[in-house]
Amino acid sequence: MRTVCKSFSGLLLLTLSVFFTAHAQNKDGKIRIIMIGAHPDDCDVAGGGTAILFAKMGYAVKFVSVTNGDAGHQTLKGVALAKRRFAEAQEAAKRFGVTYDILDNHDGQLMPSLEVRFQIIKKIREWDADIVIAPRPNDYHPDHRYTGVLVQDAAYMVAVPNIVPATPALKKNPVFLYFQDDFQRPNPFRPDVAIDITVVYEQKVHALAAHISQVYEWLPWIGNYLAEVPADKNIREKWLAKKWAVPITPAVSSSLQKWLGKDNALQVKYAEAFEICEYGVQPNEEELKKLFPMLIK
Ligand SMILES: [Zn+2]
Repeated sequence: MRTVCKSFSGLLLLTLSVFFTAHAQNKDGKIRIIMIGAHPDDCDVAGGGTAILFAKMGYAVKFVSVTNGDAGHQTLKGVALAKRRFAEAQEAAKRFGVTYDILDNHDGQLMPSLEVRFQIIKKIREWDADIVIAPRPNDYHPDHRYTGVLVQDAAYMVAVPNIVPATPALKKNPVFLYFQDDFQRPNPFRPDVAIDITVVYEQKVHALAAHISQVYEWLPWIGNYLAEVPADKNIREKWLAKKWAVPITPAVSSSLQKWLGKDNALQVKYAEAFEICEYGVQPNEEELKKLFPMLIK
């Protein structure tokens, strides 16, 4: 049984590499990116700067939230909260230059079920994605963990026609990557790709600010810093830019130096990083530069 599996995985790798050859040259040469988060602000926080850079190059970017966010507030809940978060996400999408889909699964109750796996397979196929980015399955929040598992579970199935047969299978398998996180167990995040988002950081913060119920209400409340939120709406975004600035870790700094050269890397104030998931196509450095043209300075 093991031998059969081994030769099957060899065949799979060969097939995936054939997929990849077609992959970076398909359509009009424009890469299609789908970022998948658990809540209607997750992609924004972890990949928003990169999304803006892609959108500015004319590439198509979609954010998907696997839950409708109907639990994330201290005074609102249910349909009223889901509606508010939907509207905030659509405003954020405009500011990022992306489209935003929200799946109608309850916040805080996500399970890695077949039903949700099929929803995700459908989204990736409909978007004809070249790049899929999602959380790693190690995280403090069960919805984040299970979103990681669900996307991993979709990573091969998107190319299998007999699964979700009503939505045509992808003819090539995308590259799957993980968003950056700080979790150390079972293994720390590895920044295979690091993107300089300094020039679009202000725009990213402006887009994040569209999630009023989150960045100025719920997250400060649950994080015990509600008193810090400026009452003056004119200075709130400056506060947000400082509060949410992610320090560049030594590992991300090394990755930036590898891709951009030491001098360019030292100029970077804000970055987003991604780790290649083992379950999709495994791009080499040249292929990664085609997928992330902003890596070429
Ligand atoms: Zn979240």
